[in-house]
Amino acid sequence: MSQALPAEVQTYVALGANLGDARATVLQAINDLSRLPNTRLIKASSLYRTAPFEASGPDFINAVVALMTRLDAGELLLQLQHLENRKGRERPFKNAPRTLDLDILLYGNSTINTVTLQIPHPRMWERAFVLVPLAEIAPKCVTAEQLDAVQVQRVHRLE
Ligand code: ADP
Ligand code: MG
Repeated sequence: MSQALPAEVQTYVALGANLGDARATVLQAINDLSRLPNTRLIKASSLYRTAPFEASGPDFINAVVALMTRLDAGELLLQLQHLENRKGRERPFKNAPRTLDLDILLYGNSTINTVTLQIPHPRMWERAFVLVPLAEIAPKCVTAEQLDAVQVQRVHRLE
C-alpha cells in the first residue's frame, strides 16, 4: 500500500541579499523556491530596497514569498540552507553581509523552538524589511500596530 503524502502547509519565507547583484540573486532564489520538492509558490511580494539593519554593508534587497509545502519545517530549513550555500553564503560573523539569507517566518500555525529552528521567526516583528513585504502578500498576518512599530526603518518598494 502506498503511503499518503503529508498534508500541505502554508509557509512564509523571507529573502534577503546585499552582496553582488542582490536583485538578481533574490529573483533567482524566488524561482528556486518555486521548484523545491513537494512545494509550490503561491505568491511573491515586490522587491524592496532596505537599509542594513543591525548589519553592515550595502543596502539589502528583500522580499517575502508564500509557499504551500509538504516538506516538514526541518526539511524546509535544510533546503533553504542548501540554496544559501549554493550562493556561496559564508558566516564570518553575526549579521555579516550576505549573498543570500532565507528565513522561515511562519509555518502553518506551528510554534517550534529547537536550537536550530525557531518559528515564528523570533526577530520578524522588529524588522520592517520582513513585515512590509509580508503585509503586502498576507495582510492578515501583520497588524497596523506591528507596522507602526517599525516605520522608522527605511524600506523602499521597487517597481
Ligand atoms: P540570520 O538569518 O539570523 O541573520 P543565519 O542565516 O546565519 O542568521 O541563521 C543562523 C541560524 O538560524 C541558522 O543556522 C538556523 O539554524 C537558525 N534558525 C532558527 N530559526 C530559523 C528560521 N525560522 N529560519 C531560518 N533559520 C533559522
Ligand atoms: Mg537566516
